[in-house]
Amino acid sequence: MDEQVAIPTRKQIIACRECGTVHQMLPLPSGRTASCTNCSATLYREQRDSIERTLGLTLAALCLFTVANLLPFMTLKLEGREQPSTIMTGVLGLYDAGMWPLAVLVFAAAILMPLLKLIALIYVLLPLQIGQRAPGMSMLFRWVETIHPWAMMEVFLLGVIVAYVKLADLATIELGVALFAFIGVIILMIAADRTLDAREVWNWVLPQATDDLIAEMGPGRLTSCHSCNQLFRINDADHPKCTRCGTDLHKRKPNSVAMAWALTVAACILYLPANTLPIMTVVHFGQGAPSTILGGVQLLIHAGMWPIAALVFFASVAVPVMKLVCLAYLLLSVQQRSIWRPRDRTLLYRIVEAVGRWSMVDIFMISILVALVSLGSIARIEPGVGAIAFAAVVILTMIAASAFDPRLIWDIAEERGDARQLVRA
Ligand SMILES: [Zn+2]
Ligand SMILES: [Zn+2]
Repeated sequence: MDEQVAIPTRKQIIACRECGTVHQMLPLPSGRTASCTNCSATLYREQRDSIERTLGLTLAALCLFTVANLLPFMTLKLEGREQPSTIMTGVLGLYDAGMWPLAVLVFAAAILMPLLKLIALIYVLLPLQIGQRAPGMSMLFRWVETIHPWAMMEVFLLGVIVAYVKLADLATIELGVALFAFIGVIILMIAADRTLDAREVWNWVLPQATDDLIAEMGPGRLTSCHSCNQLFRINDADHPKCTRCGTDLHKRKPNSVAMAWALTVAACILYLPANTLPIMTVVHFGQGAPSTILGGVQLLIHAGMWPIAALVFFASVAVPVMKLVCLAYLLLSVQQRSIWRPRDRTLLYRIVEAVGRWSMVDIFMISILVALVSLGSIARIEPGVGAIAFAAVVILTMIAASAFDPRLIWDIAEERGDARQLVRA
């Protein structure tokens, strides 16, 4: 009789990006999400036919993206004159007004980054669909994840809504086909983000590490790749690269606290000119006064547009202040080696990272207003230098949040014996 030999089943493992806890990956029903048992961050989402579905959504998004950028977005009608505008006219309007940093920013966030993300995803996924790997796919896929927060089409759309409400009193606005195509792209890209299972793409390059790595008693500490989440054992003295995606491997993000502090302080300094200098000037029949961010909110309140006033106040005033205060608090708590409520502080970090990009609403609104309202002596809107300072505050706080390593919160709790005994990377 044949003797049955028990083959040990090896389970793939993954480290939580926010607290470093290592988990075994278990198969889940499609569409379900696995969360970290320690800090409740999302670990992965199980998706059936992930590559096929994401590819379909991305191809459809690229078609609509072309329509959204070539046809008129909105047309302004005033005093018998018509001013159609595309997304690109806003960029050119800012450039012509001498505001090239804003022109570059709007071009990157509303056009270039979403387009590059779509093309890179198609380049990676199309060959995988027929069982092939495209040359350089790991570098490109790593890059898709890096540019993800900088593709801000949904924030741009909110800017469009604010601009539309602001102009409704001044002139007649006709919505163009491109606007509806643009909304379509946003919906398709959100759906593609949800169906994409990054683990499946990375498994094509190299399979995820298994739990043998934990049992392995070799030298070095368990370390997770910041980009592709592969696990390794490395010595602190080594400076190796991830064998799967090529990123430099570090136990924690290098100089995390110093870098995040420098960027937060710089953002605090720029916050003053951002709020005291005018962000734009509305010139109507040769007359006009510059307005600041708070001045813009006041104007909306006087016009009785309470919901939009509240939205602009929240996105442009409350969120940047909240981000600066929260970042400073998180950095101080790590420097003071606090063990107070690590789970709540991790949640705070997650919120700061998620809401940051929405502050860009005012910048996008200005770009649309500049493009639409350029009727020479009748009416025009000019961007102000305060807008550059404000955009810099938003960008600096976004980079500061990504420079901060939330796992430092848990390292301190672990060192001080106040954390659950978990395997961490
Ligand atoms: Zn966690
Ligand atoms: Zn990697």
